[in-house]
Amino acid sequence: MVKKTNGKLDETTIGASCPLGPPDWRYRCKQCKHVFLMPAPKGPSEEKNRKCTKCGSAEIERIDLVTSEVCPPGG
Ligand SMILES: [Zn+2]
Repeated sequence: MVKKTNGKLDETTIGASCPLGPPDWRYRCKQCKHVFLMPAPKGPSEEKNRKCTKCGSAEIERIDLVTSEVCPPGG
């Protein structure tokens, strides 16, 4: 018998061996070339307000998603 769940992801299966938080986005400022990390935004409007942490320019581009490198693969 298959028990139907409400579609909610079981959080214990996500990062169970890794106690660290969610991954960060890596951004690069087009003005000063400064590269910095910011936590993944909760919504598009939040990301729109992102600015360079060094010069304050809104001309930033997202490079990639940075997952935790501290947590060893496979434990
Ligand atoms: Zn900048």
